[in-house]
Amino acid sequence: ASSPSQGTASHPPRPLAKPAVFVPVNRLPEMQEERLKLPILSEEQVIMEAVAEHPIVIVCGETGSGKTTQVPQFLYEAGYSSSDSIIGVTEPRRVAAVAMSQRVAQEMNLSQRVVSYQIRYEGNVTEETRIKFMTDGVLLKEIQKDFLLSRYKVVVLDEAHERSVYTDVLLGLLSRIVALRAKRHLPLKLLIMSATLRVEDFTQNQRLFPKPPPVIKVESRQFPVTVHFNKRTPLEDYAGECFRKVCKIHRMLPAGGILVFLTGQAEVHALCRRLRRAFPASRARAPEKDQEDSVEEMRKFKRSRARAKRARTATLPQINLDNYSVLPVGEGDEDREAEMDEEEEALGSDLDLDLGDEGPDGGEHPDASLPLHVLPLYSLLAPERQAQVFRPPPEGARLCVVATNVAETSLTIPGIKYVVDCGKVKRRFYDRVTGVSSFRVTWVSQASADQRAGRAGRTEPGHCYRWATWFPAPPSMSPCPREQQPRGHAALPVINFPFPTPPSTEALVAAEELLIALGALQAPQQARRMKQLEVSRLSCPITELGRTMATFPVAPRYAKMLALSRQHGCLPYAIAIVAAMTVRELFEELDRPAASEEELASLKGRRARVAQVKRAWAGQGASLKLGDLMVLLGAVGACEYAGCSPQFCEANGLRYKAMLEVRRLRGQLTTAVNAVCPEAGLFLDPKMQPPTESQVTALRQLVTAGLGDHVARRVQSEDLLDEKWRNAYRTPLLDDPVFVHPSSVLFRELPEFVVYQEIVETTKMYMKGVSAVEIQWIPALLPSYCQFNPPLEEPGPVYCPERGRVLCHRTSVFYRIGWPLPAVQV
Ligand code: ADP
Ligand code: MG
Repeated sequence: ASSPSQGTASHPPRPLAKPAVFVPVNRLPEMQEERLKLPILSEEQVIMEAVAEHPIVIVCGETGSGKTTQVPQFLYEAGYSSSDSIIGVTEPRRVAAVAMSQRVAQEMNLSQRVVSYQIRYEGNVTEETRIKFMTDGVLLKEIQKDFLLSRYKVVVLDEAHERSVYTDVLLGLLSRIVALRAKRHLPLKLLIMSATLRVEDFTQNQRLFPKPPPVIKVESRQFPVTVHFNKRTPLEDYAGECFRKVCKIHRMLPAGGILVFLTGQAEVHALCRRLRRAFPASRARAPEKDQEDSVEEMRKFKRSRARAKRARTATLPQINLDNYSVLPVGEGDEDREAEMDEEEEALGSDLDLDLGDEGPDGGEHPDASLPLHVLPLYSLLAPERQAQVFRPPPEGARLCVVATNVAETSLTIPGIKYVVDCGKVKRRFYDRVTGVSSFRVTWVSQASADQRAGRAGRTEPGHCYRWATWFPAPPSMSPCPREQQPRGHAALPVINFPFPTPPSTEALVAAEELLIALGALQAPQQARRMKQLEVSRLSCPITELGRTMATFPVAPRYAKMLALSRQHGCLPYAIAIVAAMTVRELFEELDRPAASEEELASLKGRRARVAQVKRAWAGQGASLKLGDLMVLLGAVGACEYAGCSPQFCEANGLRYKAMLEVRRLRGQLTTAVNAVCPEAGLFLDPKMQPPTESQVTALRQLVTAGLGDHVARRVQSEDLLDEKWRNAYRTPLLDDPVFVHPSSVLFRELPEFVVYQEIVETTKMYMKGVSAVEIQWIPALLPSYCQFNPPLEEPGPVYCPERGRVLCHRTSVFYRIGWPLPAVQV
């Protein structure tokens, strides 16, 4: 058994300033010995004294110094948990939550019933749990249920340096919860742990922490790491370069583990496969078999997660969409969790670089006599397989871990002497216009590159091989503009939120106004938005509709369409349309200038062909009124009917990659809908029947409800004083005339009212993604954009100020939309 007062030769015991309750822990001697090597052990007393005296404490120390595994144990031993108040630890990544709970349980010689984890769809928390590891998203959800977090005595926010959106949101919320709990004399302790020393954002932010919290730095023994730059400049085939580098290290350099950083799961597997072929391990099991096992295990793991998820969502209330009185949401919105993990799944196929079969690589001949113990590591790897990287490799073999970004700070692999860094990372980006995420591979920041290199110097001097000599400016925050971030933010009031690095106020005001207009947030009593900024209270509360919208990983306008689309069996169509709108430019760019006469002729031919195809997809009558969005629906339907082949896309002017992306998004949205509403029992049938006429009308209404601020009205003849207004439309947002884009199927129709997806400016302002709207829908579907005269609640004679006369009586409503649009009577 050990307690802080026990100590060893290198860390002599010091009496604690305040007598504390010691909860004895029965560690195995070998575990205790390993623990005592960790630098953080010598800071135990300083940390625990700070925790006793301050509500908020920041601990920073190099990755591997023992923060994640040891601090929860310190807290446990000091009596910070009991049967009704526990220690919570949040991790940005699922993989860390699971692995760390296992490790801590093992170190403390306790069962996982006591040291447990909870991630999105699974966990092993019990009545006996004292230390609970969880993802940021899980704690966020708990805050939504119980703002005071009364079950916790301490919350440890781990990896605050990651600055993921959720970590930041949590920090803001927790800073308030700590204050509230102090008022009620139920103090909550908050520990913020970071691997970097740049903690000014936390300490210097007055709104976040009026009194700067103490910062405790853990000195760690970091051995020097020599960084070697490859002469060859940034490469396309970085996975291939990594392969060659690992071969070289393994064949020529002294013993020591190798850690390779790649960007995604598919790449990791490809490189593992290639390395195993090059250096077959002298193990009973064939490496290929091993590899397949891992895939099979992963599938099993995913299946069990899916089962757990279904079990959880089965009890959700029925969605009721009638009259737009929208949706109880229940538990479905856990998708907010673990952004970081998704990088592993998304775009997998795009990045599955075919590394080809083993040929002589750069003249090197693999030497089969040197066993290389190759292990993959990424977020979605089954936990048992993840745990393997912590075990020593077989006798005489060299460990080689091929990992994604998870190995950068979340997990410390012992015995690494060489780091091979591809210099890239897969990040989620949000499109400002559509608000939809995509994944892109980008160069890592200098800070990340340093972190990665640092992994080589944990136990002895090491070496890091990298290619990137140029780093982009580090993102000040996460790469997604949080005002567009639909999930966390539709669900959380944002304007007065104490973000560590706040986004621009105008952006937030605009975003919040849009959410109010869409009905996702409750409107404030008076529209004094700017003034409210001064008031320190949370702004507009979220509505039921907003909660539902928050479950869909798309921009708020589209989320509203989805939230309403269960009516008239529109869901599959709405999903297809939203997916197609989100993946912009389904059609090839044919407006480009031609280099030669021949090319011009071919472009013209293709344009004519595409126009014909679009007309066919738009159809006639009701369906034509859905306009360009009907074309999108037709494109998705027709393309899937043809098996989404590259030939079909080529023949019809569609971009093949875009169509694949649409398919992927449809799958994702279908899953999201099922999570909110399992009764919908939606399954993705790529092939859709065309919608009926009444469904098309319902779809037009959904689109109107979602794109409410993108209404335009064709100028009336009396406005045509100026030639520039011929065929033009007015919008509430712009003073200039806007036009239907020539590529639109409504270019010749020019309906009086339209909604549009976006405006692009070329020679003129053009609306793209245009759909016709019936005037009488506007007051019903977009009341927040209308002014009623008299106000809706006082029926009476309707007076039109412009015409100076009473227009109608009682039963009619007189309203206007936006300002450039003249009053309209219905
Ligand atoms: P930090 O949070 O400061 O980055 P950790 O607490 O995660 O550090 O790690 C401390 C040490 O514990 C590291 O040396 C790491 O290798 C070791 N460790 C963590 N998990 C395991 C495990 N499952 N098996 C063996 N060693 C582990
Ligand atoms: Mg850690």
